[in-house]
Amino acid sequence: MRLTNAISVDVEDYFQTEAMSAVASRNTWDSFPSRVEANTCALFELFARFEVKATFFFLGWVTERFPQLARKAHELGHEVGCHSYWHYPVFRMTAKEFWEDTYRARNVIEDATGAPVSGYRAPNFSINRSVPWAYPILEELGFQYDSSVYPIRHELYGNHRAPRHPYMVSTCLMELPLATWRVFQQNLPVGGGAYLRIFPYALMKNGIRAINNSEQAPAVLYLHPWEIDDSQPHLPASWKSRLRQYTGLAGMQSRLERLLQEFALGRIYDSVYLPALARIRDEVPLGPQFEPGNSVPGGRPSPQQVTAR
Ligand SMILES: [Zn+2]
Repeated sequence: MRLTNAISVDVEDYFQTEAMSAVASRNTWDSFPSRVEANTCALFELFARFEVKATFFFLGWVTERFPQLARKAHELGHEVGCHSYWHYPVFRMTAKEFWEDTYRARNVIEDATGAPVSGYRAPNFSINRSVPWAYPILEELGFQYDSSVYPIRHELYGNHRAPRHPYMVSTCLMELPLATWRVFQQNLPVGGGAYLRIFPYALMKNGIRAINNSEQAPAVLYLHPWEIDDSQPHLPASWKSRLRQYTGLAGMQSRLERLLQEFALGRIYDSVYLPALARIRDEVPLGPQFEPGNSVPGGRPSPQQVTAR
């Protein structure tokens, strides 16, 4: 059976990225000409051409200004998730700040779509072992899964020792890491975003194929609306930040089209979360502490790693 991989979009504008945070502080966001609606609608059209339903993790700030955009994603059959309110990395917040930011974003998004939100994606893949309070807060706020762990070495969000495949972090919350290709005992990032723009396309393609064929697992992929926008205003950030944000924008659309052409892609909830949940239910025998109908058994404190099939 052909696996369906997951494609996700972190819905934020070009001035809200970590790379631009030094030159576009949050209190100035309203002064920038917004391009998020046009770019997200372009993705809606592209996905429709390939008959693909995706997961869109909306920033609360964006949803408050463009509720019709989140509503449209929902009405088109895409999954709508939460990408925080203010786009602060989780490891730079206190537990209280994280709770408030997530609560506000979740409510804004649910008000816009009229539907509950199941998935969370942290800004900059910023959930790691330094924020042990993050998962309990997500669970308390009703999330069923988190997809904020990128198990690679990276100066901003390195978390390379984390498991590479879905695992329960508590009885009700699952972590769905971004796609990595295990080569020479290293995890190569093949999840999309800047890596899809900058690395050779063949690396991404071979990596996803290897995850599908050798590991019999789906890959979780991501991108941003501003990454298909080669005409976005260039801000006077550092050369490193400009390199990170502007490299490969012109070729992104065609690379994304190749991905859509060559792989079966779908929403995270159906393509990765539900198959992983079914597998966990199959593999964990019911003990005296688990009665049918209770919540899914998980694996705290050592995460129980599973491979979604
Ligand atoms: Zn983001």
